[in-house]
Order: sequence, then structure tokens, then C-alpha cells
Amino acid sequence: MSDIFSRRDVIKQGAVVVGGLSLFGLAACKDKKPKSTDATTTTTTAPAGGSAAGGGDPLIGLDHPTAKSLKYTHDASTVDSSIRVAKSGVPGPEQNCTNCQFYKQVDGKEYGTCQLIPVAGKHVAGKGWCVTWAKKA
Ligand code: SF4
Repeated sequence: MSDIFSRRDVIKQGAVVVGGLSLFGLAACKDKKPKSTDATTTTTTAPAGGSAAGGGDPLIGLDHPTAKSLKYTHDASTVDSSIRVAKSGVPGPEQNCTNCQFYKQVDGKEYGTCQLIPVAGKHVAGKGWCVTWAKKA
């Protein structure tokens, strides 16, 4: 008889252990978020006018000190006409980075480097503008 009880005790204890492990496992998984396989949740940070080289925005931030001091903007058309005035015979509305002497386009992109805003890995938009615009020679 004692042998039967001891087998029952072992079975009961085993069931308790297995049940406890199962609950522990559920608790451990409770806070884990499932991996999404939904392709629609994928986001990109590529700005208009270029791909995100290395995953970051290729354009300089408008809050960069040099960009701010030159009143640089990514879109020349947003600049007040009292600021974007004719220079070297080029009317203000026709001035943008692509026809500025300090601009060099990155191949195949709508942005490029600016000699006056030399920030590694960052660029100015081709349709951008700043107060130091100068006619391309
Ligand atoms: S200096 Fe020329 S290329 Fe550079 S931000 Fe100003 S307008 Fe654009």
C-alpha cells in the first residue's frame, strides 16, 4: 500500500511541477510582443528627393547652426520675395541650390554638397536656397 501511495505522490508532484513550468512559461512569454510579418508596417525615413543613405536623412537639418545662420531652406519657393532678391541678373524666384556656384549634385540625386555648409554625410536640397546664393560661373 505504501508503495502505491508513493507512486501516486510522485505522479501528483510531477503534475504539479509540469503545471508550474507551463504557467511559468506562459508568464515569461506574456510581455513579449509577437514578431510582425505584416509588410505594411514597414516604414522608411527617405525624404522626398533622395534615398536615405545608410538609413538616415541625407539632408542637413534646418536647425544646424550653419544652415540657420545662412537662412537655408530645403525649398526655395517658401522664401519671402523680399529676402530672395535678384543677384547677378538672376531673379530671386529662379535662384536655388542647383544653379548656385557652391553646389555640387550627388549623382542621380536631387540633393548635393554645399561648400558653405560642409557637414559630413549631409547635403542641401537641389531646390533649396540660402542668403549666400551666388550665380554659378
Ligand atoms: S550657398 Fe548655394 S548651394 Fe549652398 S545652401 Fe546656399 S544656395 Fe544652396
